[in-house]
Amino acid sequence: MKKSIYYSLLMSAMMSVAAAEETRQVDKHEHGVGELNIAVEGSAINLEFMIPGADIVGFEYEAKSDSDIALVNTALSKFQDFENIFTLSSSGNCNLVDAEIEINQGDDHEDEHDHEDEHDHEDEHEHEDEHDHEDEHDHDEHEEEAHNEFVAHYSFTCGNVKEIDRIDFPYFTTFPNSGELEIQFVSEVGSTSFEVEGDKPFIDLKGKI
Ligand SMILES: [Zn+2]
Repeated sequence: MKKSIYYSLLMSAMMSVAAAEETRQVDKHEHGVGELNIAVEGSAINLEFMIPGADIVGFEYEAKSDSDIALVNTALSKFQDFENIFTLSSSGNCNLVDAEIEINQGDDHEDEHDHEDEHDHEDEHEHEDEHDHEDEHDHDEHEEEAHNEFVAHYSFTCGNVKEIDRIDFPYFTTFPNSGELEIQFVSEVGSTSFEVEGDKPFIDLKGKI
C-alpha cells in the first residue's frame, strides 16, 4: 500500500514536469462522456474510471452546501461498492484486491483566461467602451466555471481471467445523469475500444482476453 502511494506521487511529480499539458485534462473533458481504461495483465484486471462530476452529481464546483456535500458523499459511497458501477462475469472468479476513489478538482483556469484576455485586447481596438463592459462580464462567468472528475480505480486478481466474457455496467442506472462511457480495453490479445450507453450497458469480451 505504502509502495503504491509513493509510486503514484512519483508518477504525478514526473507528469507535471514532463507534460504539464496533461494536468489540464480535467478542464478538457466532455460532459456526458466518461472514460474507462481496462487492462488485463496476467491474472489481473484493472479498471480506471474518469467521469465528469456533471455526469455523477450534476455539478462540478466544490461542494459547500450541506445538500451538495451529501450528494458527493452519496456518490463516493456508491463507487466504494464496485457492483454499483460494473460487474465482471462470475466465471472469471475475480476478487477485488484494491480500490481507490477520489475527486480530481480542476483548478487550472489561468491559461484559459490568458487566452481570453488576448482576444479581449483585439476587441478593444475596434470598439473600446462597449466591449470592455461585456468582457468584464464574460470574465466573471468564467471564473465561476469549475470542472472536476470522479476517478475510481479497481484492481482484481482472477482465478480464470480468460473466462471473463462480459462486463456489465449498472453505472448507468446508479447515476441517472450519466452519458456514455468511452472504453479503452487492452489485454495480451490486443487493444479494443468500445462506446457504451445505457440502452446496451455491457461489453462483450469473448476472444478479447
Ligand atoms: Zn466539466
